Amino acid sequence: MFIHRPDPIHQVRVDTPDPIFAEKLLEQFGGATGELSAALTYFTQSFHCEDQGIRDMLQNIATEEFGHLEMVAMMVEQHTKRARQGAQEKAFNSTLFAMKGYGPHLVDSKGTTWDARYVNEGAHIVRDLRADIAAEAGALATYEALIRIAPDEGSREALRHLATREVAHARMFMKALESMNKLDDPLFGDLQPDDTVDVWFNLTMGPEADRRGPWNSEPEFHTRDLVSAAQRGGGAGAQAGVRHSPAKK
Ligand code: MN
Ligand code: MN
Repeated sequence: MFIHRPDPIHQVRVDTPDPIFAEKLLEQFGGATGELSAALTYFTQSFHCEDQGIRDMLQNIATEEFGHLEMVAMMVEQHTKRARQGAQEKAFNSTLFAMKGYGPHLVDSKGTTWDARYVNEGAHIVRDLRADIAAEAGALATYEALIRIAPDEGSREALRHLATREVAHARMFMKALESMNKLDDPLFGDLQPDDTVDVWFNLTMGPEADRRGPWNSEPEFHTRDLVSAAQRGGGAGAQAGVRHSPAKK
């Protein structure tokens, strides 16, 4: 069940109402990286998770994300209601709030309605936790953009808290993956990988073909140089199991 306490998880105090900034804030209310997307994603995922501890974590963080949704709603309300009534009325009338009224709406910063396709869930807890780390990175990037353009210290302070919590959540999801020895192992489920699981297919021509980093280097990864194999007329390519196009009929 949910219990309602009529005060936010962190204070929201907008100093300078700015309806144009409020429109940007909608990205975190009804947008893809927003708090509703996060809350519904973790909530839904929790019901296909066998591990009771990880299920509790997902439901707890989902509840916190609803608290964040409330904070964003309060910020949008304060920015727009006070703007409409004050010296920013003209700016207010240039935003989508002129049509829809003050306060939050389930749209993103461009007015596109929230979409259930923003919810990334399904099939396996490892797959879900990986998606969650990416989702937190998306939310953090949006908050960093909002902090850069925030018009007042009160808004910046609230946004700093919201951004910080996304960092904390990403760390928790990483720890959960680590507890399953899946932080640095993308394999899960029943797949028996073939012999390319440690192969770097080098498909680049020219000097850039030799660029190396830990992502394509020995001993973790062995290179199959497909471009030069093709250029050489197929000898090494055939060895590597490469089919040249057009395929012989
Ligand atoms: Mn959040
Ligand atoms: Mn989060």
